[in-house]
Amino acid sequence: MDEIILPFIICLNSNMLNIVLTGGPGSGKGTQSNVLCEAYHLRHLSTGDLLRAEIAGGTELGQIAKSYIDKGNLVPDEMILDMLAQAVDEVLTDKASCGVIFDGYPRNAAQAAALDDLLAKRGQKVSVVFDIQVSDNLMETRLLRRAGIENRADDNPEVIARRISLYHELAKPVEDYYKMTGVYVAIDGEDGIEPTFAQEKAVLDKLK
Ligand code: AMP
Repeated sequence: MDEIILPFIICLNSNMLNIVLTGGPGSGKGTQSNVLCEAYHLRHLSTGDLLRAEIAGGTELGQIAKSYIDKGNLVPDEMILDMLAQAVDEVLTDKASCGVIFDGYPRNAAQAAALDDLLAKRGQKVSVVFDIQVSDNLMETRLLRRAGIENRADDNPEVIARRISLYHELAKPVEDYYKMTGVYVAIDGEDGIEPTFAQEKAVLDKLK
């Protein structure tokens, strides 16, 4: 059976809500993912988290990925795709899920095309893309604050600067790609969690 009935929701796996969150490092993608997952019964899929789990697990992929991550560079596309496909397959078997949030993927136009292809092969598509826009200053401030809390190796001033500049280099082609496919929505993330979520909710309410 393709349908699951929970106390207050009905999810049809054929009509999933698949949201891509783009935005610079520290733009609030992780936080918005959590809020959206809770509100819309979605599963959070963060390639950064998956890579950090590979590193923690000491896998070969993790060891290679670490050398890129620690410098603020992107892990090569072909190294990520299998990991992502496996994670998507796992999420799609979760009948209680009404969709997926892609956080940190895609990071470039080639990844955006790869994601469309991967989803199409599974009878799925990207429903909407939220590009969470915040100033470089705010990204930097948030990442430095996080550095004291999460102890991430890539949250130090030098690597943060590299990550922000790489983001600017690659963001426009991703934006253009999603504008072309008609799913792109710019979100002002400058004012924090609630105002950002309110903008996303307004869009999602219209999608229903
Ligand atoms: P994040 O947690 O999304 O900030 O990602 C942390 C780091 O993981 C990034 O700086 C990249 O080195 C790597 N990474 C995460 N997602 C991707 C991706 N889609 N493509 C390439 N590298 C990625």
